[in-house]
Amino acid sequence: MDSEDLRLAVYRSFAETGRAPDPSGLAEQLASDRPAVTRGLRELADARHLVLDEAGRIVMAHPFSAAPLGFAVMGRQTLWWGGCAWDSFALPHLLPGEGEVLVATRCPACGQPHAWNVGTEQPPDGSQVAHLLVPAPRMWDDVLRTCANQRLFCSEDCVSAWLRTTGSPRGYVMDLPTLWRLAAHWYDGRMDRGYIRREPAHAADYLRSVGLTGPFWGS
Ligand SMILES: [Zn+2]
Ligand SMILES: [Zn+2]
Repeated sequence: MDSEDLRLAVYRSFAETGRAPDPSGLAEQLASDRPAVTRGLRELADARHLVLDEAGRIVMAHPFSAAPLGFAVMGRQTLWWGGCAWDSFALPHLLPGEGEVLVATRCPACGQPHAWNVGTEQPPDGSQVAHLLVPAPRMWDDVLRTCANQRLFCSEDCVSAWLRTTGSPRGYVMDLPTLWRLAAHWYDGRMDRGYIRREPAHAADYLRSVGLTGPFWGS
């Protein structure tokens, strides 16, 4: 089985239905069999294209998620789990024709609900801030925990309150325009055939271009 066919089938399922495809469906769609799909998914996970759970089920194909991580994203016909703050803001950029999506979450500190219309033209309005807990060089150590801790808060005060309550070290705080610029092109190409993961040097250039530098970002 062609690994790129498999990767694209997973991404298209997430984009079109909001859900991860099941292995039997993938085998049928790709005229293959379950063991080949299982092997193929494992290879894609090893190359960090996907995240699998212990049973080999697809949990994430960034920025898509099959698991709730604090965000819901509503399109015209489709509902997605938004992954983290970064991933939720990235979704409209990977879904041409969708226009603006509604991104909704709760402040992890105080429970206040927040929602934004997020599109591809300009950052959404709002004075809320994103807090990313895990520094970039460690983001893949436990990527589910990393995404679960990339959240949007009412304010800096709510970030501080949450850090105190959870006993967490401060990560990185950014405003909504910065989060939107980070998300806008980070996942470029993932829906296209022949996608190759960004080299670390290229990733550093991209981060610098949106104003993110320093030890947290690995530079
Ligand atoms: Zn709050
Ligand atoms: Zn994420």
